[in-house]
Amino acid sequence: MELVKLSINGKEVEVPAGTTILKAAEQMGVNIPRLCYDEDLSSVGACRLCVVEVKGARALVASCATAVAPAMVVETHSPAVMEARKTILELLIANHPLDCLTCEKNGDCRLQDYCYEYGVKESSFVGEKHNYEIDDSNPFIIRDNNKCILCGKCVRACAEWCVTNNIDFAYRGFNTKVTPFWDVPYAESDCLFCGNCVAVCPTGALTEKQMHTKGRRWEFEKVKTTCPFCGTGCNFDLNVKDGEVVGVTSNPTSAVNGRQLCVKGRFGWDFIYNENRLKTPLIKKDGKFVEASWDEALDLVATRFKEIKEKNGSDSFAALSSARCTNEENFLVQKFTRTVMGTNSVDHCART
Ligand code: SF4
Ligand code: SF4
Ligand code: SF4
Repeated sequence: MELVKLSINGKEVEVPAGTTILKAAEQMGVNIPRLCYDEDLSSVGACRLCVVEVKGARALVASCATAVAPAMVVETHSPAVMEARKTILELLIANHPLDCLTCEKNGDCRLQDYCYEYGVKESSFVGEKHNYEIDDSNPFIIRDNNKCILCGKCVRACAEWCVTNNIDFAYRGFNTKVTPFWDVPYAESDCLFCGNCVAVCPTGALTEKQMHTKGRRWEFEKVKTTCPFCGTGCNFDLNVKDGEVVGVTSNPTSAVNGRQLCVKGRFGWDFIYNENRLKTPLIKKDGKFVEASWDEALDLVATRFKEIKEKNGSDSFAALSSARCTNEENFLVQKFTRTVMGTNSVDHCART
């Protein structure tokens, strides 16, 4: 592997050829701000917040889209860079509602974080502001284009992760906005409602409807779990407040799916509070199901299994498991079938 030696903030670093300045700096523990960059999406160098100074270059360069070069000398936080970043932030908030007090993303918003870090309170670019209607047309996603900073991450997630291409930039200049084809509400578009655009949005422009007014993001305990809907086994975080699940958000450490989810996994969790859901075991007595304790139900199942095995032999028993169970649960089913019931008659609905 070809290595490239360069200097970042006066320190020498060696990284594989082709590494971006942003990644090389990250390797040294230097954090460069970024709004449009996402390591799981293609780089477009659109927001310019990651600009750095490269000795000899005629202008500041976007570190997310510039590869390192031998003997490059980079400054990531020089006065010129800091000034440029402040100006970029001021331009971004020039046409922004600054509604942090009631915004659902308050405390989990990259724009807010960077304005805080760079001391940007208000914009010196005073002018016209958009007043877009909020798209509340569907049960899953709220789209507030007034809070959109046109970073394009949602567009790329929709195109590169879902290959749906449901949204893109429309119009030009000040009127540019991200919207589905024909500028229709999400509900009238080809949207799959996977919410992957929501997962990457750095601001309050795209938010989960189910989580609205349920609390501040920092109040939610995140509990990593496995999706119960299909055999893919995606992982995500249940967001829990006061013992109640209020939403699902992606967990980037998920080995199976990364931050990608489908509509069922991200938004279908509310079945857990459905009033028709069975909460206690039922045992049939005199032809009717009656509620029973777990001890009572498990004792009955164990007794009946034992009776069947003793009377008819192990091969009178067979187990059929489900892709909706976790690997661990399926492992236990086959272990129980083979070692306790003494038969290899065990199968799974997703085997073929
Ligand atoms: S998107 Fe961010 S900066 Fe804008 S109002 Fe919401 S929290 Fe504030
Ligand atoms: S919810 Fe999914 S399909 Fe719909 S716009 Fe977002 S990423 Fe695309
Ligand atoms: S909706 Fe969010 S992710 Fe999409 S362009 Fe706007 S700020 Fe970026």
